[in-house]
Amino acid sequence: MTKLQDMSRSQLRQRKEALVQSHAALRGRNRTIDMTRGKPSAAQLDLSNGLFNMVTEADYLGADDEDYRNYGVQSGIPEAKTFFAECLDVPAESIFIGGNSSLQLMYDALARALLFGVPGGDGPWREASFICPVPGYDRHFTVCETLGIKMISVDLLDDGPDMDAVEALVANDPAIKGIWCVPKYSNPNGIVYSSDVTRRLAAMTTAAPDFRIIWDNAYAFHHFEGELAQIDNILDVAAQTGNPDRPLMFASTSKVTFPGAGIAVIAASDANMVDIVAHTAVATIGHDKLNQLRHVRFFGNRRGLHEHMAKHADLLRPKFAAVNDALEKSFAGKGLAQWNAPKGGYFVTVDLPNGCAMETIRLAAEARLK
Ligand code: PLP
Repeated sequence: MTKLQDMSRSQLRQRKEALVQSHAALRGRNRTIDMTRGKPSAAQLDLSNGLFNMVTEADYLGADDEDYRNYGVQSGIPEAKTFFAECLDVPAESIFIGGNSSLQLMYDALARALLFGVPGGDGPWREASFICPVPGYDRHFTVCETLGIKMISVDLLDDGPDMDAVEALVANDPAIKGIWCVPKYSNPNGIVYSSDVTRRLAAMTTAAPDFRIIWDNAYAFHHFEGELAQIDNILDVAAQTGNPDRPLMFASTSKVTFPGAGIAVIAASDANMVDIVAHTAVATIGHDKLNQLRHVRFFGNRRGLHEHMAKHADLLRPKFAAVNDALEKSFAGKGLAQWNAPKGGYFVTVDLPNGCAMETIRLAAEARLK
């Protein structure tokens, strides 16, 4: 088909008429489709139904005979620490296990920093700013907005944030206290951080001595095409470059088992661990240890987790392929849209010519497509 840019006025009029008619047909279809957020389907949730049988009234004790129905073991059961340590390639003593939400752990980490400060700093963060690679995860930005942390946007490139810009900003401004990072299959465009970006983040000179990298490894195990992408271990790299306390790594089983009833973890240096455990111990006497036990028994080990993720991949792959095929069919070679074909994560990004995105969303909504 001729490109829109090359069409005559009358050809454009005809094309518009055809599109208006097909849009009317879509509107008349009476079907609602919502693809807005990375929410696992019911079939994906069913993959984890085995969790329901992993802890019974006859079998709820921990490896050390601790009664996991009761209070205590505040930083997480040893079995779960060992499991996540294996999956995230960190020592078990570097793991803290929380409730079901890693976003809550991140929110709490920043709220605590504003109230009390963090190891290496000289008190509460005041007038704090954060580097926000854009495009990024909207909920990260809402955390900043809600807590009054000023956001400074930096471009997210194909291998991570624009590090020239990041380094220039953090070197001179002690109010810049951190950066948001989704290092693997980053939302919304699925990019994976390169080793060079990871090293530069860990090693860069920051005017703030208490700078933190919020390393949100939400999609650590979530590939559906080819091999799982590999990223460098930020805790190791930061320790090697003399900044062991800079990164806080977060992960969860939200898109592995049940988003509403999974487990979330932080991996961090010894000093950060002491700080996190001391503060969270004031807020809770312990998280849900039975759920931690359920998860460990369900997966067994890292291999079990990867086998489970392969089942998710089988369900997700055709959906991503369908979206890609539809985009190819309508837009390939027309210079009207660019989109990514991620190999993991939960998102497809489509870029349109300036001024077209809002109108596209509006027209799609008329056809009950979100
Ligand atoms: N971080 C990222 C990058 C996400 O995309 C999401 C969910 O979409 C979350 C965190 C939320 O994770 P959780 O369910 O563990 O709070």
